Amino acid sequence: TSFSDLGLSEFAIQTCKELGMKRPTPVQVHCIPKILAGRDVLGLAQTGSGKTAAFALPILHRLAEDPYGVAALVITPTRELAFQLAEQFRALGSSLQLRCAVVVGGMDSLTQAQTLMGRPHIVIATPGRVKVLMENNADLPAVFSRTKFLVLDEADRVLDVGFEEELRTIFQCLPKNRQTLLFSATMTSELQTLLELSANKAYFYEA
Ligand code: AMP
Repeated sequence: TSFSDLGLSEFAIQTCKELGMKRPTPVQVHCIPKILAGRDVLGLAQTGSGKTAAFALPILHRLAEDPYGVAALVITPTRELAFQLAEQFRALGSSLQLRCAVVVGGMDSLTQAQTLMGRPHIVIATPGRVKVLMENNADLPAVFSRTKFLVLDEADRVLDVGFEEELRTIFQCLPKNRQTLLFSATMTSELQTLLELSANKAYFYEA
């Protein structure tokens, strides 16, 4: 299987080539076509499996088709992971006019709120900070109401560290018809519950 077999557009295939990604990894082979087809996805995959590109490439593909209409919120458990994700999004989206914002603790929240008001395409966030921002800025829920993709990266860890309240606040600001993409190292009962809330029929991938 090659990247062009997965339904990705030419810019994405070209970028993968430039980044030295010769062929798609198994999580990419299985998940990319399902995400492009509009399905929710739960992928059980470890770090190093290529899971980030498995959700970033189809999101960027959709963004290239509709830069005004597509926005993604990516939730990850730690600041470090948030910056790593942003780096991968920027590398994979280097040929697009991508606006990608990192929203984590330890940075000025007023600046972050202003960045979000500029409607970035991709928001990569830790749950605590994005919840506080949503609660303290009356205009932010409207910004997030156009979210097309919600990604929980390392979802088992996000759900494990007691972020239920934060996630509830965040989910309330997102439209029901979004696509939900969950990537996790392990299957947990919290993930199962979350998946049952999914509006679309979810595709389940396990390595
Ligand atoms: P991840 O599992 O998302 O943490 O990715 C691990 C590393 O694999 C990252 O540094 C990616 O740049 C790299 N990678 C992702 N997909 C591929 C691929 N198809 N071929 C080669 N390297 C890849």
